[in-house]
Amino acid sequence: MSNISDIFGSMVFNDQVMKERLPKDTYKAFKKCIENDQLLDRSIADVVANSMKDWAIEKGATHFTHWFQPMTGITAEKHDSFISPTPDGNVIMEFSGKKLIKGEPDASSFPSGGLRATFEARGYTAWDPTSYAFIKDGTLCIPTAFCSYSGEALDKKTPLLRSMEAINCQAMRILKLFGHTEVSRVNTTVGPEQEYFLINKDLADKRKDLVYCGRTLFGAKPPKGQEMDDHYFGAIKPWISAYMKELDETLWKLGISATTKHNEVAPSQHELAPIFNTTNIATDHNQLTMEMMKKIAGKYGLTCLLHEKPFAGINGSGKHNNWSISTNTGVNLLEPGDSPQENAQFLLLLTAVIKAVDEYQDLLRVSVASAGNDHRLGANEAPPAIVSVFLGEELTNVLEAIESGNIYDHKAKIEMEIGVHVMPRLPKDTTDRNRTSPFAFTGNKFEFRMVGSTFSVSGPNIVLNTIVAEELAQFADILETSSNFTKSLNELIKNTITNHKRIIFNGNNYSNEWVKEAEKRGLLNLNSTVEALPYFISDKNIKLFTKHKVFTESEIRSRYEILMENYCKTINIEALIMLEMVKKEIIPAVCSYIKDLSDTAIAKKTLSADFNCELEKSIVSKLSSLSESLFRKSKNLEEDLLGVKNQNSLLVQGQYYRYTVFPIMQELRAVADEIELLVGEKYWPYPTYGQILFSN
Ligand code: ADP
Ligand code: MG
Repeated sequence: MSNISDIFGSMVFNDQVMKERLPKDTYKAFKKCIENDQLLDRSIADVVANSMKDWAIEKGATHFTHWFQPMTGITAEKHDSFISPTPDGNVIMEFSGKKLIKGEPDASSFPSGGLRATFEARGYTAWDPTSYAFIKDGTLCIPTAFCSYSGEALDKKTPLLRSMEAINCQAMRILKLFGHTEVSRVNTTVGPEQEYFLINKDLADKRKDLVYCGRTLFGAKPPKGQEMDDHYFGAIKPWISAYMKELDETLWKLGISATTKHNEVAPSQHELAPIFNTTNIATDHNQLTMEMMKKIAGKYGLTCLLHEKPFAGINGSGKHNNWSISTNTGVNLLEPGDSPQENAQFLLLLTAVIKAVDEYQDLLRVSVASAGNDHRLGANEAPPAIVSVFLGEELTNVLEAIESGNIYDHKAKIEMEIGVHVMPRLPKDTTDRNRTSPFAFTGNKFEFRMVGSTFSVSGPNIVLNTIVAEELAQFADILETSSNFTKSLNELIKNTITNHKRIIFNGNNYSNEWVKEAEKRGLLNLNSTVEALPYFISDKNIKLFTKHKVFTESEIRSRYEILMENYCKTINIEALIMLEMVKKEIIPAVCSYIKDLSDTAIAKKTLSADFNCELEKSIVSKLSSLSESLFRKSKNLEEDLLGVKNQNSLLVQGQYYRYTVFPIMQELRAVADEIELLVGEKYWPYPTYGQILFSN
């Protein structure tokens, strides 16, 4: 293997490259613009663009693209070559600052939820200079935001950058109160752990459900599943290992610090985590990681499944969004400190997060809602649909002591008075931490575990940044006008604990008791996307996003529409694929098995009337009644799908898919799975769960 330090970031126009290649003054001016979040001067942009182009051409690039993240959830790119004609009929390689800063893709087919009237179909892309340009497949990719001409965000990056600005602004107010004049910027950081399945491509290609939907719509439970837990952290097989090696090297070249890889709980399931980064860069990197995971798989005869629930009865895939807040001076604000003052600041930020999660449970739930993730949340393998915070025993005890004004019963028996005493050191050991919690404090960061594996982490982090920004704003409003800072701070922390401790839960989130307890505490339990999404457009949440200038009201409404439409479309496609599989593949397979059995029985009878053909009769009779039932249910499903057009609003349509269409799909599947267990293997048109999951 090549030396990691030689290849790491070799395809990235990063700070080091810029320092080396840009004239000193340009480099300085460029850095200043970024630090102060100012627009780039055209003359600077021209120099940067030219240097970027030269660097890219040296690396073999011929094209450039503004790489952006429309609301489809994947990334988009439109390639243009650097070639520019000269009057003498030749060409030169050219790339101007104008082209670097702004692009104008004809993007009329990207979803806009009604934001962009078709007559002004063109949106524009604007460079995000805080995320480095990189080369992928001979193309210089420039991370950009994507907006309509009226300035409305049509992508996932613009609101993310706005939310980062919101939390920066409010956290700076708090830091100022604590006397931190040395800090000039606060950023949120994210480390997303990505789960995925790798399966044999030849087998995957034989299944329309996997090809079109990324998940199986049928499939009987295999005799062996994940019950032995023999896959978790097990030895990695050679060809999987070769895949992972290439994936790692590809990601390293792109400056993505993929660090860990291990087998997950389910057979054929794996995980990759990078070292955390600033939120917008982490988001870009995660998108690239998913793209490379899929692309490289093909080379090894593998298919990478990123779906939240590829196989019923087998653990699904999530994405753990590790999130924290840190200063440009390198201080993690969610890390308990050593001095009384640091502890007070930590407790203030911690309670801000607790209050945020309690008051905006709905938005956090909305941020992870999708048809795919509905299969996961609330099943006994992933966090429930109920949002709560895990703090661990030590920290919970500290908060309880603060609230009651009691002596904190730690070994040293320290009386807790914020800003006066040092908090006991919290154990950093993570071995006993609660893996069932949807939102867990893990020593110096929070881990949001409800995110689905296919998601862009943009959405969840937009919500996290904005809701915490709001709480910090409220805290700053109180503290800035107080005449006794320490007293107000004490009261604020104490009252926040009292008012929001209902969101703290350290027990088993998978248990039924918790569902009951959460209800008693008045916590939300939004079981599906259809139930969750309407909260996105509540007055409270529109007020929040518009106050912090993260979304305009029309941006929120358009996103709500896109998400709901996406839900409906997903279920609709899955239902149509199911019908096709039943009609074109499953029914013919059953018929031919029934025919062969019947032929066998007739042949036997011709040989001797003594044969009673019990075997053939029994299987044929079971299969006949099951396939009749399959046929009836597929008719029902067809009729239900016709009924969609009678549902007059988007919400009612979503509800119709959820409560009418989806249950009949599940019934249809149950019958088909029963049939699969009875039909001879060579007749069954699909690779089975067992073959798919245990072939790698
Ligand atoms: P586990 O699987 O036990 O949760 P991992 O080591 O796989 O732990 O993942 C932890 C993730 O959290 C890594 O991506 C890591 O970079 C990230 N992380 C660590 N510190 C921070 C931080 N301050 N902010 C954001 N993410 C962080
Ligand atoms: Mg984790």
